[in-house]
Parts: sequence; C-alpha cells; structure tokens
Amino acid sequence: MTDRARRPTIAVIGAGFSGSLVALHLLAAGASAPRILLVERASGFGKGVAYSTRHGAHLLNVRAGNMSAFPDQPSHFLDWLRSRNEPADPSGFVARATYGQYLQDILSQAAKGSDAVGRLVLVADDAVSLTRLPDGSFRLTTDVGRSYAVDGAVLAVGNFPPDPPAGVDKDLLGSFRFRTDPWAPKALARIGQTDSVLLLGTSLTMVDVALSLTDQGHQGPILALSRRGLLPRRHGPATPPPQPQVPPAIGPSLASSLRLVRQAVREAAVEGRSWHAVIDSLRAATVPYWHSLPTPVRARFLRHLRPWWDVHRHRLAPQVDERLRAMMAEGRLRVVAGRLERLSTGTADDLQIRLRPRGQPMAEELSVLHAINCVGPGGDIAGTQDPLLRGLLDAGLARPDPLRLGLDTDTQARLLDRAGHVVPGLYAMGPIMRGTSWEITAVPDIRVQAQKLAAAILA
Ligand SMILES: Cc1cc2nc3c(=O)[nH]c(=O)nc-3n(C[C@H](O)[C@H](O)[C@H](O)COP(=O)(O)OP(=O)(O)OC[C@H]3O[C@@H](n4cnc5c(N)ncnc54)[C@H](O)[C@@H]3O)c2cc1C
Repeated sequence: MTDRARRPTIAVIGAGFSGSLVALHLLAAGASAPRILLVERASGFGKGVAYSTRHGAHLLNVRAGNMSAFPDQPSHFLDWLRSRNEPADPSGFVARATYGQYLQDILSQAAKGSDAVGRLVLVADDAVSLTRLPDGSFRLTTDVGRSYAVDGAVLAVGNFPPDPPAGVDKDLLGSFRFRTDPWAPKALARIGQTDSVLLLGTSLTMVDVALSLTDQGHQGPILALSRRGLLPRRHGPATPPPQPQVPPAIGPSLASSLRLVRQAVREAAVEGRSWHAVIDSLRAATVPYWHSLPTPVRARFLRHLRPWWDVHRHRLAPQVDERLRAMMAEGRLRVVAGRLERLSTGTADDLQIRLRPRGQPMAEELSVLHAINCVGPGGDIAGTQDPLLRGLLDAGLARPDPLRLGLDTDTQARLLDRAGHVVPGLYAMGPIMRGTSWEITAVPDIRVQAQKLAAAILA
C-alpha cells in the first residue's frame, strides 16, 4: 500500500506566514491530519518576505498584542517573547526580524513534534508546476525535477514581485541604477553615502527603504514620489478603547459608506477617541463588505479610495514615524506628489527624471544617481511569468480575479477555473486572494483565514 493510499497528501506551496499557518493547523488535527508537503523556495521556512528582514529598524506595523499567530491564543506571541526574556509590551512594536524568529520557532517546534513524523515534510525547493491527473489528483513538480503525487494544494505564494512603474525606460530594467525589487538581496548595495536617490512610491515600502539607507550610512538627498504624495499615518495612542468598538454601519454605496465612516470619526472625536479606533473597528466588517460589492464598485474603490484606505489602515509605529519626520525636517527626504513622466539614462552616468508635480501644468526635470522601485506588490496577475502560476492559468485550472489583483476564488478560498467552476482540491491563501476578499494581507486577518481554510480542508 502506498503512503498516498493510506493518508491524503496536501501540498502547501509557500512557507511564509500564510502557508506555515495553514500547515500548522492541518498538523494540529493529529491522527486525522493529512500528509503535508510544505514547499518553500527561499532560504528558511516560516518568515516569508515580510519577516526575513534582518534590519532592526524594520518594525511590525501592528502592535505586539495583536500579532499572535493563533486567533484563539491571543497572548501566544507575547508569551513567546517573555519565554526569551524579551520585552513583551502588548502595545509596543517589535522588530519584524524577531517576529520572523517567532514564526520559525513555532514551525520548527511543530516539525520536531511526534505528530509531525511522516506527516510534515519540508521541501526546500521552487514549485514550478501543478498539473491535474485524470483521477482528479495532482502532480507537483519542483525546480530540481522532483515530482510529488498530491491530493490537493494550497497556493500561499504571497505577493507578486513589484512591476516597474509606468514611465521607466525599458533599458533601465536590469541596470544597477534602477532597482526593480527593493526586497531583492543586496538591493541597496552600491549606493554611496552622498548619492542622490529617487524612491518611487511613498508607502510602507518606501519607509523601510529610507530607514535602511540611513542605517547603512547614507546621507544624500532622497526624493520620494507618488501620485498623491500620501504617507502612511502614525499609530494612535496605545491606550485601548474603553469598550469594544462597534463598527460604523456600512452603506450600500462607496459614497454612503465613506459618509458613515466620517460621521463615526466625528462622533468618536466628540467622545475623546481618535479616528484610529474607528478604522480598526472596520477590520471585522471589511471582508464581508468587500464580498457584497459588485466588481465595478470594487474597481472604483481601487481608483479613488485605496490610497486613502491604505495610509489609514496600514500605519507606522510611532518610532518609525518620528525618524521619517526628522529626515523630512532635515531636508534629506523630500516627499513629492506628482506623476513620473519618464525615468531614463542621463548623460553623466546618472538617471534623468521628468516628473509633473500634482496640479501643475509644467513638468520638472532633475537627475539622481539611483532609483528604487517602492510601489509595492506587483500588479496584473494575467501577465505573470512565475512558472507555477503561468502553468495554472494557461491550463485553465486558475483564472485571474476580475480586477486581476490575484487568483479568482470563491469566498471559501477554493480556486475557480477558467470557466468559473470550483477546482476540487485547489485553494488559495493570503494576499493572492486580495481580489476575492481584499483584506487578507496582514497577520490578524490571515491567521483567521488560515485556521478556517485548514478546517475546510480537513472536513
Ligand atoms: C515589507 C512588509 C512588511 C509587513 N509588515 C507587516 C506587519 O508588521 N504586520 C502584519 O500583520 N503584516 C505585515 N505585512 C503583511 C504580510 O504580507 C503578511 O503579514 C504575511 O507575512 C503574508 O505572508 P504570506 O505567507 O502570505 O506571503 P509571503 O511572506 O510573501 O510568503 C510567501 C512565500 O511563498 C514562497 N513562494 C512563492 N512562490 C513559490 C513557489 N512557486 N514555490 C515555493 N515557494 C514559493 C515565497 O518564497 C515566500 O516565502 C508586511 C508585508 C511586507 C511585504
């Protein structure tokens, strides 16, 4: 009797937070757990992109008290910090590198446990194809040519690498002066202490990069450019609200929802509470609200409200905000609202920028020595060159969601094929489900979804 005949095998592709947590919940089923192949192409399991940083200035953007990996054990992360004699202030913001160690630790504890023997297999490789066999099971192939028969798979592949923004000349792609992916190893190498730098984007990624540059001794001018020049807002006071917040009722249209949220913010202010509590109270309502919106309304949200939502929803730790403000006050960091018309090779081994400041008729020309793409995760999945996703899309086993933010799924995370039918056995998890559920991007949301998905797979 083969192992597959005894126990179903589930491949979890991607061992960042999403995939690792699905695997842990599956494993927790004990005797009824399937055999789990946890496949990760990066070095190290558990950390993913966000928590692989070694940079101490890269802090979590969620308070430690809300970063437990397990929704039903809210103090799990704080207890882990205490067990290592590290400060465990629930309202504090811990280094992302520490959080990465936490994830790696819980994964390795589980992998060493007796439950895991023969059930959890860590595959350090790139999953490059997943094909469906006539009996409805799948064949998973990895980059080095290993092949596994699996009964189902969870795609927990995280965010797509960033696309270069419009306006960047094609001949700059691949040049050391233009960094397409700020998370790539050595992305910030070869930048001299006084070199001028353009950061494209003004979101959390830009903040990470500006701090990393500073901490590696960079003192030159930094220009950060985005359409609106919006910066992530700072977290509010640490004191928890005196009673659980009731989310404002959300209206039938975007405009009415916005009115209601603004009204709730005004009412909160009268009661001495900040807008942060109102935005946070929307967390539980966001996914069902997104599910209720027709595609054209979701598209309008992305066009008009998303930049505002992002800066209020995904905020900065106060220490980080202070450093950023200090850089701006010193004049070392200039944040500009405007459109990049062109970024091209200059005449003096530099880069030439043509940008049109927001609301101004005339473009400005300036030059810098380096440019770093900080626009955040990549866009249209339909154009992906990732072999695994490309293969699934080309075979019709998956399709982009209508807004092409990720893969199309039903609300239970089951993949939809080209015709819109559920593909039995294939699931998505984490940011790749953004089109279906929007807020599956941070730990407090993903941990709930991971638990639900594991329960659905086990059922
Ligand atoms: C810089 C940054 C900071 C963040 N900070 C916070 C924070 O402070 N708090 C918070 O709650 N959220 C934060 N987030 C959100 C973060 O995305 C989630 O918390 C979470 O880490 C997402 O995990 P994931 O597993 O879905 O994705 P990822 O972390 O991207 O993991 C996906 C994994 O899949 C692997 N993979 C992809 N394709 C394949 C393949 N074909 N074969 C094998 N392996 C594959 C990748 O190597 C990667 O390790 C941050 C995100 C970023 C990018």
